[in-house]
Amino acid sequence: MKKVFLLLFCLAFFKMQAQENIDSLILSWNKISDEFIKVNEMDSACKYGNCAVERMDLEINSKKNRTNREELINLKKKKAQALSNLVTAYGNSDRMDLAMECYQSALQIYKDINEPFEIFNLHTRMARVNELRSSYNESLKYYHKALDQAIINNDKKSQALCYNLIGIDNRLLGNYPEALKNHFEDLHIHEELNDKVGIANAYVTLAAILNKLNEREAAIEKLASAKVFFEEMNDTSGIATVYNDLGSTYNTMGDTMSALQNHLQAAKLRELCREYNGLGASNSYIAKIYLQKGDYIKASNYLKEADKAFQKASNRQGIMTTQIEMSGVYLDKYDLDSALIWLDIAENTATEIMNYQGLIDIYSSRGEIWLLKNNSDLSIKNFKHALSIAEQQNNHQQIYLLNSHLANTYKDIGNYRDAFNYQNTSVQYKDSVNSNANFKAVVQMEMEYNYKKEKLENDLLQEKKDELNKVELAKQETQKKLYFAGVLMFLMLSLGLLSRLRYIRKSSRALIAQKDEAERLRSVAETEKLRATQSEKVKEQFLANMSHEIRTPMNAITGMIDILIRQDHSSSQAKYLHAIQQSSENLLVILNEILDLSKLEAGKMELEKISFEPVKILQNVENILHFKAEEKGLKLILKTNKNIPQIVCGDPTHLHQILLNLASNAIKFTPKGRITIEANTNFISDDKVVLQFKVIDTGIGIPKEKLDHVFDVFTQGDTDTTRKYGGTGLGLTICKRLAELHHGSISVESEINIGSTFTVEIPYGLMNDKEEKFQEEITKDARDLNILLAEDNEFNVIVARDALENSLPGVRVDVAENGEIAVVKVQSNRYDLVLMDIQMPEMDGYEATRAIRLMGIEKANIPIIAMTANVMKAEVDRCFEAGMNAYISKPFDRHELLANINKVLEFSHSQK
Ligand code: ADP
Repeated sequence: MKKVFLLLFCLAFFKMQAQENIDSLILSWNKISDEFIKVNEMDSACKYGNCAVERMDLEINSKKNRTNREELINLKKKKAQALSNLVTAYGNSDRMDLAMECYQSALQIYKDINEPFEIFNLHTRMARVNELRSSYNESLKYYHKALDQAIINNDKKSQALCYNLIGIDNRLLGNYPEALKNHFEDLHIHEELNDKVGIANAYVTLAAILNKLNEREAAIEKLASAKVFFEEMNDTSGIATVYNDLGSTYNTMGDTMSALQNHLQAAKLRELCREYNGLGASNSYIAKIYLQKGDYIKASNYLKEADKAFQKASNRQGIMTTQIEMSGVYLDKYDLDSALIWLDIAENTATEIMNYQGLIDIYSSRGEIWLLKNNSDLSIKNFKHALSIAEQQNNHQQIYLLNSHLANTYKDIGNYRDAFNYQNTSVQYKDSVNSNANFKAVVQMEMEYNYKKEKLENDLLQEKKDELNKVELAKQETQKKLYFAGVLMFLMLSLGLLSRLRYIRKSSRALIAQKDEAERLRSVAETEKLRATQSEKVKEQFLANMSHEIRTPMNAITGMIDILIRQDHSSSQAKYLHAIQQSSENLLVILNEILDLSKLEAGKMELEKISFEPVKILQNVENILHFKAEEKGLKLILKTNKNIPQIVCGDPTHLHQILLNLASNAIKFTPKGRITIEANTNFISDDKVVLQFKVIDTGIGIPKEKLDHVFDVFTQGDTDTTRKYGGTGLGLTICKRLAELHHGSISVESEINIGSTFTVEIPYGLMNDKEEKFQEEITKDARDLNILLAEDNEFNVIVARDALENSLPGVRVDVAENGEIAVVKVQSNRYDLVLMDIQMPEMDGYEATRAIRLMGIEKANIPIIAMTANVMKAEVDRCFEAGMNAYISKPFDRHELLANINKVLEFSHSQK
């Protein structure tokens, strides 16, 4: 009432003013129309809006030839404003054709007088009108137009607004993946603008959508981010929203306690800031939880509270929803009549406010209740009613659900033809609702299941009829036969039918189980797939970082220690130096183990195929561990059978790794006695051999119950193994994976306090005489070399220079601090080879290599060895692609460095 008085007052006031000035008159019509829109009095809004337009037309016509351009533009602008008001007024009174006319005219005017911001406003008005009528596909169309305009206007805030509104509509249409994209766009723009309110709200919305997509943890994370922003801004209402959403999320996760706590917290905050809409929503959530718990009294009490709050906020949609929920409470109590009464009440409200979604819900619920009351006619009628509204609204989700309800209802009454038709339509829509391929397969299965079930039932029905017919015939034919024979036959048939019926039940149960299993497997597969791809990505990222970040400083540390140890130092310093050396070596072992395992698990470990001498590998292992064994007073014995081929073809590095690991373990876990490494040939053909290696110790042994698990990740024999012996529990896992990668095997036998025997079997290729001869040592004479070292890290320069100067007689090392300098130096000096770091400032190693390869023929062929801290295959491939000849990983091994230098020099000589 207050508002109406206010309006009348305004009207009188504006009219008085308008006597003098046509401008204020127009303004007054426009304003009055606007005010009426605000109080939802659309008829009056239309009336006054029209007055304004008509007045403006008169004004423009009369002044067209008499006034200047600017004033004419001004008049047109006012007319467009009036028209744009009319768009809202007509649209909200459901006179869409008139609204559309006004929209077109206003649009034309704004285009003529070039008002890009007004064009944007007009589109959003039109979208809003459609949204209020729940015509979300239409509203999306206009929001997209508004977005295009906002992009033209380069108006970021409006763009964010549009993404947000588009996202909301997509959400309402059940198009969650699209909505997620929209809201991420919205978030990014707010981040760009550093708009905290926008960011916080975007997080809340994203959480809501993630919830819909069953990404609960991600949703909780987003809500936590939102809460931080709201708290920063002291925004109580925002915090309440977060609590509410957290409550809902926990509820879907089945954690009702946390859900209830969060919703209660939200309600408290909302009451505090008199936010009645929110309070209504919170109470309604709380009611829902109590309903789940079967506490009907509390549920309906909280719904009453919700209703009160919505009344205070004059939120009729809220009131309607509460009424529908009230019906739900009665439905749960199986008080079907009361549930129907509440639906009638809700229907009145929904009709008044033209809430189509509400009407769909109401008719669907009614359909379900009538089904429970065994009245399929009324049930079908209500479902159909709901379906027609859903179709009008083009709401795929609802169309799918309602078709499926109708299919089931028709099936229940034995009308298979209609059931099948509705089922088919529902499948089509289910497909469009969720485009997931697996989903499609499941729907297909569901269809097949329903079809099979129906067919089975029909067949059996037919059979039953046939059999009854037979009985009839038999009866006629045997009229004269004895009465008891007839009775006997009937009994037999009944028994047959009984077993048939049992068969039907059994088959349907089996089919249902099959369907449930398929559904379960599908959801498990989906979650697993998602989880797997996510963790795979994280793992790869982690690997790359780990490689780079740890290997580079480790290179400097190990290299410097080498230098220090070789220089003069006191004996007390020697102790510390060796301790540092030992620790850094241990650290490298752990780092390498983790990297190896990750590579193996990601399927990124690749095996070499080169010729090598297996016995040499064993000798090398013995050489390395000889002192360690001696230190502990253990004997290390190497037994190689004569039948071992001298040369085989395969991966020597990883064989070395496996044997070294097993033998180190053996020494580690053997307090006294001996360790024997045996090698045998287990199987031999023309081109293949299986080598068997045994590492036998007389150590502490492994308990029987742990024996099956020693090859599992992070498994150690005893809980105090780590304390006593150190280690990561990864070594054996890596050995096993490596053996498997070779198509070989590894096994263990052990007895406590007697000892353990690890057996490894690996197939290798055999070399035949025609194939290249094994080259024992790299024989190239690398004297007086001129080497360019391109490296920006001064510690690494010291280490590399030292390694080179100590191993290559007469070497001269020139240093370039970045790629650019390296290129200049290569251009103006003569070098035998370049050692090229990859990550350097100004110009990186790839670019520098490419630049060198483009120089004149003499320079372009200079051998280049990459020095990289990243040992991932992708990085190594990039090195070769850029034109490098070899690579060594940092921290580099001096022998590896020299071997590579020899290799590239030999190759470059052979090319000359
Ligand atoms: P770690 O880094 O702990 O040595 P491994 O994967 O190499 O990890 O070994 C796993 C566990 O298996 C060890 O912690 C130890 O308990 C047991 N183990 C391995 N080799 C032996 C052995 N030769 N004798 C006794 N126990 C062993």
